[in-house]
This record gives sequence, C-alpha cells and structure tokens, in this order.
Amino acid sequence: MAIIEVDSLVKRYGERTVVDGVSFAVEPGEIFGILGPNGAGKTTTVECVEGLRTPDGGTVRVCGIDPQRDTGELRQLLGAQLQESELPDKLKVGEAMELYSSFYRKPTDWRELIDTLGLGDKVGTQFRRLSGGQKQRLSIALALVGNPTVAVLDELTTGLDPQARRDAWDLIEDVRNRGVTIVLVTHFMEEAERLCDRLALIDSGRLVALDSPAGLVAKVDDRQRIRFRPSTPLDDAVLTALPEVTSVERAGRQIVVTGTGNLLLAVATVLARDKVVVADLRVEQTSLEDAFIALTGRHIDA
Ligand code: ADP
Repeated sequence: MAIIEVDSLVKRYGERTVVDGVSFAVEPGEIFGILGPNGAGKTTTVECVEGLRTPDGGTVRVCGIDPQRDTGELRQLLGAQLQESELPDKLKVGEAMELYSSFYRKPTDWRELIDTLGLGDKVGTQFRRLSGGQKQRLSIALALVGNPTVAVLDELTTGLDPQARRDAWDLIEDVRNRGVTIVLVTHFMEEAERLCDRLALIDSGRLVALDSPAGLVAKVDDRQRIRFRPSTPLDDAVLTALPEVTSVERAGRQIVVTGTGNLLLAVATVLARDKVVVADLRVEQTSLEDAFIALTGRHIDA
C-alpha cells in the first residue's frame, strides 16, 4: 500500500487556484521529491497532506487516513518539519526534545536521536544560541522524535551553506535508512537529483512530470556525449561503426562522440581492443535542470 496517496488535489486561495488537480502516490521507503519553482504550490500540497490545509477538491490519504478527519492519528504517523522552525528563543534543545516527545505514543529515544544528528553536546543550549545548521538539525530531530512512518521535510536546506547542505543530505539518507519514508520539498536541482528516488515536478499548481531523476532526463533527451583525446591517431570509422554512436566530431585533438544507450561502454571497449589510451575523458549528459526547462519552458529560479 502507498504511504501517501494524493488524488486530483485542488486548493484555492480566493479566486486563485494554486494546486490544480495534482495526483501522486508515495511508496514505502522512498525519498519522494516535490520539485518546482517558488510559488508553484509545493508547500500548499504538502500542507494538505499534513492536514494543515483543507483541500477544495480531490482526496488525500496518509496510510489510509484522511488528514482532515483523523488529525490525532495522523500526528502519530507523520513527522512534519517546521518551516522556518521558530521555537521560543530561550527553550533549550533538551527541553524542546522532551516537550515534543510527550506528544507521541511511541517516541524514540531523543538523546540517541540528537546524538546521531550531531547535537548531543547541545542539550543545555538555548535555541537562539544554535547556528543555522544546528537549528535545521533540531527541526529534523523534532520531526523524527515521534518515530514517524513518514517525514515531510520542506525546504530543509534553504539558507544553509554548501557544507551544511551536504551534511543535511547525508542525514536525510540516514533517516531513510532507518526505514522512514521521506517527502522532500525543494527547489534545488542538485538536491533533488542527488537524494530523490522519484520526483514530482510541479509548476503553476500542476504536476508536470513524475519519474526518477534519470527517467525525467531520459524523457527529454537520452543522448550522451563523450569527449577524449586519443594517444594515437584514431579513425572515425572505428567509432561510427558502433550502433550506439550517432556522430563523431573533431575539436582540435579532441574527439567528441555523441550517441545513446551504453555509449561509454561501447566506446571504451573498441578503444581497449585497439589499444588506444585516452586522456581528458569526459561524459556529458542532459541534466535535470535541462529536463526541467524542456518540460516547463522555464528555468526553475525564474
Ligand atoms: P511553493 O511552496 O511552491 O513555493 P506555495 O504552496 O507556498 O508554493 O504557494 C503557492 C501560491 O499560493 C503562491 O503564489 C503563494 O503566494 C500562494 N499562497 C500561499 N499561501 C497562501 C495563503 N495563505 N493565502 C493566499 N495565498 C497563498
């Protein structure tokens, strides 16, 4: 059974429809990404899943539960990270963990949790004294302390420096490895590509595509390009004879091979057979960003 099922979800603010018939299902154990530009309707969608907003149309189920009807049960299943998590400034890390633990029937051992999150030595530290990265980690800890089946993380790494962002990514993978299904809302391509098993691309309230990052890229363009410098002269015909190769071009001493399928293996195999050593080998592929532009007609940051 899917952990989350969203079917033809509609949400309006006044006259404006900000979520316009979105459907998707999140499977157990996956990191499911919701990717789209600012204002696309991502947060509104997950807020309907979290029971924080009332849909104007469609249905939402979390482990079979209607978030509108059974909020109490939902709280036990779903860990939501607070957006721009604002806890009282003077609340200490340990106090926040104790308070949140008390909300749940089967809380996890919060000391162990914050140890894993690298906050073990911050138990007595006030919220306001934490760095941006530490606040983010605390908000993840608060989302996980109830031992949820699914955790919703919204713009988790916004505002973090590159190192803290990478740490957060490792952490999300750790959480998934504990068996928690994760819904990750993001507008960072790199984050989506690196972490998500599947991605829902949302633009102007609509689901534009739903696939794995590689699947989204392949939908748009499955061509690859390989560049290298051969150690000895190489006849183009050796490469063009390969079924994977669509074209061979020369750029100075560089050879640029374009093709599909397992192009790298095919090219590497003939080069090895002919004992050609190569230098400066690079493989270029369509990026998720290219796919996003092709599918929506615009840049994600536009
Ligand atoms: P995203 O998370 O993709 O950035 P949101 O779901 O936050 O997008 O917002 C979608 C649209 O709905 C935006 O144009 C936003 O301004 C608008 N919106 C969000 N919350 C409200 C609200 N409470 N009242 C009116 N409009 C809102």
